[in-house]
Amino acid sequence: MRQTADAVVIGGGVMGCSIQYHLARLGITSSLLLEQDVLGSGSTGRSQTICRTHYSNPITTTLAWESLRIFTNFSEIIGGDAGFVKTGYLVVVGPDDQAGLRRNVAMQQDLGVSTALVTADDLLDLAPMIQVSDGEGMAWEPESGYADSHQVTTSFAARAREMGAEVAMRTIASGVEVSGGRVRAVLTSQGRVETPIAVVAAGPWSKQVLSGIGIDVPLSTVRHQVASIVRPVEPIPHHPIVGDIAQSFSFRPEGSAMTLVGFGEDEADLAGYNQGVDLDRVPEVMERLVNRMPAMSESYFRGGWSGLFTVTPDWHPILDRVPGVDGLYCAVGFSGHGFKLSPAIGLAMAELITQGRAISVDLTPLRFSRFEEGDRLTSSYHYNVLA
Ligand SMILES: Cc1cc2nc3c(=O)[nH]c(=O)nc-3n(C[C@H](O)[C@H](O)[C@H](O)COP(=O)(O)OP(=O)(O)OC[C@H]3O[C@@H](n4cnc5c(N)ncnc54)[C@H](O)[C@@H]3O)c2cc1C
Repeated sequence: MRQTADAVVIGGGVMGCSIQYHLARLGITSSLLLEQDVLGSGSTGRSQTICRTHYSNPITTTLAWESLRIFTNFSEIIGGDAGFVKTGYLVVVGPDDQAGLRRNVAMQQDLGVSTALVTADDLLDLAPMIQVSDGEGMAWEPESGYADSHQVTTSFAARAREMGAEVAMRTIASGVEVSGGRVRAVLTSQGRVETPIAVVAAGPWSKQVLSGIGIDVPLSTVRHQVASIVRPVEPIPHHPIVGDIAQSFSFRPEGSAMTLVGFGEDEADLAGYNQGVDLDRVPEVMERLVNRMPAMSESYFRGGWSGLFTVTPDWHPILDRVPGVDGLYCAVGFSGHGFKLSPAIGLAMAELITQGRAISVDLTPLRFSRFEEGDRLTSSYHYNVLA
C-alpha cells in the first residue's frame, strides 16, 4: 500500500468510491481509498437502490436528476454496468400532503425534471395494478428506476484504479493526524499514509471517525428494514416503484417475481443491531402492500434484511469541508437516500476538493454549519424519509 497519497478517502461505500473516481477524473490520480471490510459492505450493500427525483428542495432534486442521467447512461459516462432498470416511480400522498405534492412537482418541473401530477384514471394505463383511494394525490416519474449497488460501487472503484488510484480493502483508518490546523496523514492498520487531504465517507461509522479527530457532528443511526416478497407473476408481471408517503413505506420490483418492501425507522446502535427483519411486523407491512397492490394478497414473505441510515437532524447530508481543519472533508449523513445521489455527489465533492468549491451544483444548502445556524432543510411531508 502506498505510504504517501495526494488524497485519502475513508470508506469504500458508493460515496467513497464515487468521490475517489471523480477526484481521479479531475486530476488527483494518486489517491488511496481505505475500506475496513470490502467495497459496498456498509449501508450501500443493504440499500433498496431506488433512484427517483421527487424531493422537497431544489438541491436534492438537482443531485438526484443529474445522477439519474448518469445511472441511465452509466456504461458510456462512467464505464461498467450500473444494473439500472427503468420502472417508473409513483409517489402517493394522503389528503394532508396534497399541497406539498403540487409544490414539489412544480419545483421539479421548473428544474427540467420529467414528472407530472397524475390521476386515478391515468393509473389505469400507467400502473393498473396500483390502487389509490379518494383524497390521495399522485405524481409520476417515467425515467426513474433502480440500480445495482455492488455494480455501481465496484465500477467507480475499477475506473479510479485504471486512472492510478489505489483501493486498500480490509484496512482500517484509525486516525487522522492534524498539526498546525491541517491534515498531515491518515493512520491506518497498515501504517501511516502521508497526505494533505482526508475525506470522511464512512457511512454509519462517520460519527466515530470524526469524533476521533475531535469533531462533533450531529449524526445518528436508524434501522430500516427490507422485506423480500415473492409476487404472483400472473396478475402482476411487473410494477413501478412506489413511494407511498400516505402509508409511510416504499416498494420496488426486484426482477420479474420479487418485490422489495422498505419500512421502519427505529433508532439503533451501530454495534450489534438486528440485521434481519422483525417477523412480528411483517403482517402489518403486508397489509399496507395489499392495500396498495391488491393482487399481492397472493404473495408470500421470503426473508429480508435491515441496514442503517446515517441521519442528520434535517434528513439531508453534510457535504463540506470540516471547519477548523484544512484538508479535511466530509460526505456524511445521507439519511436513507444517498445511493441515488452518489454520481453527482462524487463530482461535487471532487470539485470542492480540487477547485475550492463545487461547480456543477451549489452545495451551500448542505453545508456543515447549517444546524448551528438554524438553517435546516425542510420537507413538504409528514413522512420526511421519502422527500
Ligand atoms: C435498508 C436501506 C435501504 C436504502 N434504500 C435506499 C434507496 O432506495 N435509495 C437510495 O438512494 N438510498 C437508499 N439507502 C441509503 C443508501 O444506501 C446510503 O445513503 C448510501 O449507501 C451511503 O453510502 P456511503 O458510502 O456513505 O456509506 P456506506 O455504504 O456505509 O460506506 C461506508 C464504508 O466505510 C467503511 N468504513 C467505516 N469506517 C471505516 C474506517 N475507520 N476505516 C475504513 N473503512 C471504514 C465501512 O466499512 C463502509 O463500507 C438505503 C439504506 C439502507 C440501509
